[in-house]
Amino acid sequence: MENTIVAIATATGEAGIGIVRLSGENSIDIVKKIFIPFDKKEIDKNSNRMMKYGHIYDQEELVDEVMTCFMFAPHTYTRENVVEIFTHGGIVCLKRVLNLCLENGAVLAEKGEFTKRAFLNGRLDLSQAEGVIDLIKAKTEFSHKSAINQLEGHLSKKIKEFRERLLDILSFVEYSINFTEDMQEELPLDNVILKTENLISDMESLLGESNKGKILKDGINVSIIGKPNVGKSSLLNRILRQERAIVTDIAGTTRDLIKEDIELAGIKLNINDTAGIRETADVVEKIGVQKSIEASENSDLNLVLFDISRELDEEDEKIIELANLNKSIGILNKVDLDKNLNVEKLKEKINFELIEISALKNEGISKLEKSIIDMFFDGKIEIKDKALITNVRHENSLKTSLEFLKSFYGDIKNMVPLDCCEVDLRRSYELLGEIIGENISENILDNIFSNFCIGK
Ligand code: GDP
Repeated sequence: MENTIVAIATATGEAGIGIVRLSGENSIDIVKKIFIPFDKKEIDKNSNRMMKYGHIYDQEELVDEVMTCFMFAPHTYTRENVVEIFTHGGIVCLKRVLNLCLENGAVLAEKGEFTKRAFLNGRLDLSQAEGVIDLIKAKTEFSHKSAINQLEGHLSKKIKEFRERLLDILSFVEYSINFTEDMQEELPLDNVILKTENLISDMESLLGESNKGKILKDGINVSIIGKPNVGKSSLLNRILRQERAIVTDIAGTTRDLIKEDIELAGIKLNINDTAGIRETADVVEKIGVQKSIEASENSDLNLVLFDISRELDEEDEKIIELANLNKSIGILNKVDLDKNLNVEKLKEKINFELIEISALKNEGISKLEKSIIDMFFDGKIEIKDKALITNVRHENSLKTSLEFLKSFYGDIKNMVPLDCCEVDLRRSYELLGEIIGENISENILDNIFSNFCIGK
C-alpha cells in the first residue's frame, strides 16, 4: 500500500484561504481524527465530494475553522482517497493543519507527487501530466491554451493514433515474414509502403509545428537593438504599459544582464538585457552598439530600431550588419517627427521588413504584433483543439521515432528482407510510447515531476 501523502497545496503567504491536501488509502481516516464536522454526522460515502463545515482540533485546542472536502477513490485526481482542507490562508493555520496530518500518519508529499500518482494510477498519461505543470506555469493566454489542450489529451490522442498506425504496419510485416517462411514466396509491399509514407508525412507535420508550440509555451527570445536614443527603452516601456503584463523580473547572475518577460499579442517575449536598454536612457557614456551585439546573441528575434528623424550614420550601419545576420524586424521609430532618414536607401541595405511606429505617441504597436505573428506563426495562431508539441522531451522522442520509421522505409524500398527492418519499426513504436509515458524509466519520471511544485 502506498503511503498517504500530505502537502500545502496553495502558495504560502497571507491569503483568504489555503488548502491542505491529502491523498492515499488513509487520508479520510487521518482527517477524521482532527476534523469535527459541525453537523456531527459520520463521514462516509454519502459525503463524497461534498464540502463539510467544521473545526480542526489539536487534542482539545481549536486550531481553525475550515471547510473540508472528502473525495473517495477511485473518482479523484489521484484515483486514491483524497481530502482537501480549506483553512484560513495564514501560514500558521496551514502549518498546524499540515503537522496534525503528519502526526496522524501522513507523510510529506514530494514535488509533483499527487500528479505522479494520477499518472501511475492511469488517470492521466505522461504528456497530460506534463500539461498540468505547463498549465500552472502558463503566463500568457496562448501558453495557457496550449497547456489545457495537452491536459485534455489532444497530443496523447494524436500519438496514440500514430502508434496504432505503426502497429498496423508492424502486424503486416510480421504476417508477411511468417507467410514467406511458410509459403516460400513474398507478399507485395505496395500497401505497406503507402501507409508508411502517409505516416511519415503526418509525423513530419506534427514535428514541423513544434517550434511554434515551444514558442507558445516558452516565448520568443527578443533583443531590442539600435544606437543610443533611437527609442529602445521607450518601446520597451510602451509594450510594458500597453499590456500591463510584466511577468517576471529576473536579475541574472551578471550584474548587468536582466531578462524581462512581457506579453505582446498573447505571446511571451523574453527581452534580453533590459538593463542595457534602460541604462542608455540616463547614462552619459552610451555604449549602444556593443550592447546590441551582446544582446543579439542567443535571440530568436531582433527588434531593430532606427530613428526616422535622423539620417543613417555609421552606428546604424553596424547595427544593420548585425541585424542582417539574424531574424529581424526593422522599426522606424519617431514617425511623429520630421522625416530625415532616407527610407529607400535603408531598404537597399537590409534583408528584413520595416514598420513605422511612434513609441512616444503609441502608434504602430499593433503593426509590430502583426509582424511577429506573421513571422513565427505564418499569420495566425491556431491552437483550438489542436495537437501541438510544446515540450523538448516530446520533440526529441518524436524526432527519433521518425528517424527509425524513415530508416525502415528506406530499407523496404531497397528490398532489405523484412525480418531485418522490423526492428526499426519496433523502436519507432517504443519511442512514441515514451511521449505518453509507456515503459519510461524511473529516472525520467523523477526528473519530470521534480519540476512540479509541492502539493500538485
Ligand atoms: P534609447 O537610448 O534607445 O533607449 O532611447 P530612449 O527610449 O531613451 O529615447 C531617447 C529619446 O527619444 C527620449 O527623449 C524619448 O522620449 C525620445 N523618443 C522615443 N521614442 C520617440 C518617438 O516615437 N517620438 C519622439 N518624438 N520621441 C521619442
